[in-house]
Amino acid sequence: LTPFQRVRRAFRVAASGGRPMSAALEIRGASKSFGDRPVLRGIDLDVERGSVTVILGPSGSGKSTLLRAINHLEPLDEGSVRVGGELVGVRVRHHPRRGDQLVELPEREILRQRSRIGFVFQAFNLFPHLTILENVTEAPLSLGRDAAETTQKARALLERVGLAEKASAYPRQLSGGQQQRVAIARALVLEPEVVLFDEPTSALDPELVGEVLKVIAGLAGSGTTLVVVTHEIGFAREVADRVVFIDEGVILEQGTPAEVLDAPTHPRTREFLGRVL
Ligand code: ADP
Ligand code: MG
Repeated sequence: LTPFQRVRRAFRVAASGGRPMSAALEIRGASKSFGDRPVLRGIDLDVERGSVTVILGPSGSGKSTLLRAINHLEPLDEGSVRVGGELVGVRVRHHPRRGDQLVELPEREILRQRSRIGFVFQAFNLFPHLTILENVTEAPLSLGRDAAETTQKARALLERVGLAEKASAYPRQLSGGQQQRVAIARALVLEPEVVLFDEPTSALDPELVGEVLKVIAGLAGSGTTLVVVTHEIGFAREVADRVVFIDEGVILEQGTPAEVLDAPTHPRTREFLGRVL
């Protein structure tokens, strides 16, 4: 650490009440309703830097809404999300009379924050009119990053997901599993601190699920923090550091894969696992 970094870290530790800021992601009291229907009800979640967290839960339990809140695609009604210690989407304004208030960040700040969070959707969402390589380079180029460097990085990522030879193909020429691997390369190209996966294999034919899970497993331990919503219990067991079970917008239990998958304490978790296993 440079002296400057040491001072900054000391300030950050002081600002966090003495705790070292090791969490990549900190969610506090996250609540959200659609109309009068509560979908997230006071979610508190800490995700350690570089770890893999698998989120399980029945359909409609709020998993996608939670991931979208982390990326500020779905602003919360209450609560906060921090990525790398920084509040997402809002900042605290100190008002002399009214006390602390949350103020929405300007759009360009939100876009900057989103570049630190990768997102892999269920339905790949590649640009059909762009080649595989162009799909991966699109975001950094639109942010004005160096073209040669971006292309080099994109090619290295395509290599990493096993698709180097598909660089000049178009999405429609690829299988669903290959398209999802491109989407993963695209999510990594800005070197995000956190990558969120929303049921990345549930739109795939069963024989293509394995190749995508293998690529995601290969990212574990590389320093990037992964949060994966999936029903793939085998993946959770083998790859996750933490497993979180959400039901009706509440975290019912969380722990190591052995704790949550092999010895669930909540009847709803047992019932859910009985259905998906
Ligand atoms: P999950 O991903 O766990 O299946 P979601 O977060 O997608 O659950 O949805 C939780 C609930 O919120 C569902 O009942 C869903 O219908 C509802 N919901 C999600 N997005 C919206 C929206 N934009 N408008 C209204 N209701 C929504
Ligand atoms: Mg969902």
